[in-house]
Amino acid sequence: MTNPKILVCMDFDHTLLDCNTSVEVKTLLGNKEIPKEISALSQDKHGHIAYMREVFRYLHKNKVTRDEYTHWLSGLPLVEGMRELLLQLYESGDCENVIMSDSNSFFIQTVLRRYQVNGTVAKVFTNQAEFDQDGCLQIAPFQNQNSCNRCPHNMCKGCIVVNYMAKRMVEGVQFGRTLYIGDGGNDVCPSLRLGVNDYVFARTGYRLLRSLEKMPARDVKCTIVPWETAYDIKSVLLTS
Ligand SMILES: [Mg+2]
Ligand SMILES: [Zn+2]
Repeated sequence: MTNPKILVCMDFDHTLLDCNTSVEVKTLLGNKEIPKEISALSQDKHGHIAYMREVFRYLHKNKVTRDEYTHWLSGLPLVEGMRELLLQLYESGDCENVIMSDSNSFFIQTVLRRYQVNGTVAKVFTNQAEFDQDGCLQIAPFQNQNSCNRCPHNMCKGCIVVNYMAKRMVEGVQFGRTLYIGDGGNDVCPSLRLGVNDYVFARTGYRLLRSLEKMPARDVKCTIVPWETAYDIKSVLLTS
């Protein structure tokens, strides 16, 4: 087996999926609203896990079952062309695809299986989630970090990218190029860790692109490529 030469890091919500699971999950409640005291938790930069934990508890209280979660997740749309892109990157033999997301392992694995692309992804970095014996989805933070101020305590994607490259290096794999595909505020940190050979694909109309465009040029070493669909990403990869 040849060593992959390109590390492809992908976000999940609004990047692989064309929606945000932590927003869409509320549709499982039907017409009912999430109580205000739970919604308030999401206002805190570090409150994402506490918020999702309470949302899942509230869904459980309202008799939402695992099957209903699975059915809902199976109906969520991928971004146009993303399935083909994942398959092509994987089949090229040159790429190692990893997902890093502040969603959770249950959501991501269910979606990857639904679209039959779980075999194309080498590793998923996310918050661990599983159903307990009562049938309530329980979520745990991916990490508890204080070393990066830019990121929430439960996840610094910049650290994930750097640590993963170091780990693969020890295993004898040195990537010549890293691609990062994302949309959100927590995709800024990893983008700033990339070098001059690397690319960040930042979705048009979302926070990552707006943030990067506001930064001094010297802070962003990699090439920024705006994208709308996976076909935009593919066309750049074919010509570079
Ligand atoms: Mg996202
Ligand atoms: Zn960070």
